[in-house]
Amino acid sequence: MSTLLDLDRAHVWHPYAPMPGTSTPYVVESASGVRLRLAEPVAGHRELIDGMSSWWAAIHGYRHPVLDEAVRDQLGRMSHVMFGGLTHEPAVRLAAKLVEITPEPLRHVFLADSGSVAVEVAIKMCLQYWQSIGRPEKRRLLTWRGGYHGDTFHPMSVCDPEGGMHQLWGRVLPRQLFAAEPPAGFDAGPDEAYAAQLSALIAEHADELAAVIVEPVVQGAGGMRFHSPGYLRLLRELCDRHGVLLIFDEIATGFGRTGELFAADHAGISPDVLCLGKALTGGYLTMAATLCTAKVADGISQGELPVLAHGPTFMGNPLAAAVANASIDLLLRQDWRTEVKRIEAGLTEGLAEVAHQEGVADVRVLGAIGVVQLDHPVDVRAATEAAAREGVWLRPFRDLLYTMPPFITSDADLARITTAVAAAAVAG
Ligand SMILES: *Cc1c(COP(=O)(O)O)cnc(C)c1O
Repeated sequence: MSTLLDLDRAHVWHPYAPMPGTSTPYVVESASGVRLRLAEPVAGHRELIDGMSSWWAAIHGYRHPVLDEAVRDQLGRMSHVMFGGLTHEPAVRLAAKLVEITPEPLRHVFLADSGSVAVEVAIKMCLQYWQSIGRPEKRRLLTWRGGYHGDTFHPMSVCDPEGGMHQLWGRVLPRQLFAAEPPAGFDAGPDEAYAAQLSALIAEHADELAAVIVEPVVQGAGGMRFHSPGYLRLLRELCDRHGVLLIFDEIATGFGRTGELFAADHAGISPDVLCLGKALTGGYLTMAATLCTAKVADGISQGELPVLAHGPTFMGNPLAAAVANASIDLLLRQDWRTEVKRIEAGLTEGLAEVAHQEGVADVRVLGAIGVVQLDHPVDVRAATEAAAREGVWLRPFRDLLYTMPPFITSDADLARITTAVAAAAVAG
């Protein structure tokens, strides 16, 4: 084991990590259900309950027999073929399914290979739309602060410029427009002053704006904040009024996590462009999708270059598409809404006491997402170890302890997760 960790430290970059590595990751040998099996016990636990769903993705847990079977079945046909000039059933079925389950009038699907690329494609679609219909000056983006849209360059330009991980790049990135963070609280009533600010900003810059891009209802890696769906209806109205496209990044929120199948459903509206990822394949393989309306696609088709000039090598990967189909079918076949409500109730109850702990600034729960915000930066190592002592895997960041467990998490395991969050809040 020490050899493996030595090699890891010497050669392997981890997310947002220095090189050589300074912290010691846990070695995972296998995973099943909601449990990660470690190569060596941590604080007496050989298995940890996964409170993170591997960053929002593993909604059905690990080694789910239906998903395993879908991958094996597809492996017996082909694991990959190029998508230029060729097509195949898993990708076509997936695209049709995504159009069917996402809000009207989203109609066309670009299958990308990661969330950041899906956001790049969404931005490219919008810029190219305006270019193609003879409005090339409409090439800036507007977002609100507190967002996260990925780690490649254009997505970085719409991440929160201060709280985010990308301050370093201020001089390199295209300069986008930022509104203030949306007022906090899913149930909070509309804040008139904020709405007026947002309206004024969009009106003032409409001539140079290609699109507004936001994470609807839940801002994830930018700070785990929730806001009222009312602001999404307002954005839809403003974008329509001023001729600006609207992009929703539902890479984290898609597939039931917030209590609706898509966060846009809370607002009863549809964006012009929608990004999906993370739970798309049930956490099995890397794949993301960018959907757009016929209006956007038709606009692009009128251009001098009437094609969307994007085509990743592994576009539409059959293995990923097959498991995405199986994961979505599995989700829709069950009463997922009741499961998410059950987890919401368990998190609400389990975290209620934590709000009174010293050092805790806020506790909030929405759907299968539980957040404990501290009044100080979290000691990641101490918090992680405290959770591991309770037999739970958590990965805090900034001043946030948070959990978004797999939808299959039992009530007993959920109680252990909230106990671990409470312990991590004390230790971190
Ligand atoms: C994770 C995430 C991304 C980036 O996806 P990757 O697959 O990590 O590139 C973009 N937007 C949101 C909202 C995300 O949560």
